[in-house]
Amino acid sequence: MLLEKRSIQDVDVGGKKILMRVDFNVPLDEGRVRDDSRIRAALPTIEMLLSKGAKLALASHLGRPKGKHSPDLMMDPVAARLSEILSKQVHKLGVAVGPEVKEAVSKLKDGELLLLENLRFDKGEEENDPSYARLLAEPFDLFVNDAFGTAHRAHASTVGVASYLPALAGLLMKKEIEELSTCLENPRRPLTAILGGAKVSDKINVIRRFLNLADTLLVGGGMANTFLAAEGYNLGASFYEKDQLEEANALLKESKSSSCNIVLPIDLAVTKDLKPGSHSEVVTPDKIKGEWQAVDIGPETAAIFSGYIEESAVVVWNGPLGVYEVPPFDNGTEVVAQIIAQSSAYSVIGGGDLVAALKALELSDYISFISTGGGATLEFWEGKELPGISVLQNKAG
Ligand code: ADP
Ligand code: MG
Repeated sequence: MLLEKRSIQDVDVGGKKILMRVDFNVPLDEGRVRDDSRIRAALPTIEMLLSKGAKLALASHLGRPKGKHSPDLMMDPVAARLSEILSKQVHKLGVAVGPEVKEAVSKLKDGELLLLENLRFDKGEEENDPSYARLLAEPFDLFVNDAFGTAHRAHASTVGVASYLPALAGLLMKKEIEELSTCLENPRRPLTAILGGAKVSDKINVIRRFLNLADTLLVGGGMANTFLAAEGYNLGASFYEKDQLEEANALLKESKSSSCNIVLPIDLAVTKDLKPGSHSEVVTPDKIKGEWQAVDIGPETAAIFSGYIEESAVVVWNGPLGVYEVPPFDNGTEVVAQIIAQSSAYSVIGGGDLVAALKALELSDYISFISTGGGATLEFWEGKELPGISVLQNKAG
């Protein structure tokens, strides 16, 4: 994966007509962009290309229109927000392919940009239909992919177009590859991986990867419940995956014969009623009564996690450590994030829910690198080849 990809820094982009795939799949609220983080993440690439005199067309999907035109998923709110951010009018076309695009692109002056319509209005996009990819590519000289969050999908605008245009990494794509690799390839040690979130089954390959790579694996969240159940604890009404007990046991066994230690919670916040501000208690895993459910790590567990984090050179973290959507069960996630913030460890974070949790807790600024990918980040960490990265040109050769 560390095969270095050719990026927009390696070629002359001046005057070139460039199709740039971005991840502008932003949350909307009554026709307005509610969170523009993904738009801002693409700005370094957009600004660099424009300053070097490229003629730029941005393309993204938005939501799940399933191959049909749907008025509420048009890119207009994105164009409006991007215009505000760039302090210049960003013209949005009504289509993503065809003569209208060709004409508009041919009229762009050096350093000007436009936005194409939602790529997924055509079913050729998700089907990676070669004829749709060819149409997409037709008006352009170069293809730049900055949509790391969609790189695990082989679609026309992430993979197909690369058959028709030289394909380069944008600055965000390049940074994601570099940052996510720092914890995979010859990482500085000690390397501590923190894994939380809901399911062992979603993350099995990531757990195994870090078990082979990290010095310590700290486990929290619903995932920890499954490990504790596998160890024989009675978890009352807690969420855990009954069909993953064998897998969890196998992982615990593997950790005994590997150099990576799995650390499970020794205390848990439990509640009978999962509601904001509901009554909760802190108990050891052997004291969870019938109707109670474990919804967060406890303070002693956080203190143990803290000890490992403070000794770490690198911390990589995926998945919240409790039901963060329901305060105060965001507490374990908050405490651990604060410990990371105060430590000297280099921290890399990925996963949709954890990123959202840290944002809500206003702790994002203290993390060294926050990945923009959800599923893409997990697949990268699993060691899978991401099709949208594979098709980019390699630096050597
Ligand atoms: P990410 O998106 O960061 O990879 P996941 O999608 O795997 O994380 O998991 C996030 C979900 O895990 C959240 O909805 C959260 O409520 C849930 N979760 C965390 N801890 C628990 C728990 N103890 N019991 C039930 N659900 C939990
Ligand atoms: Mg999630």
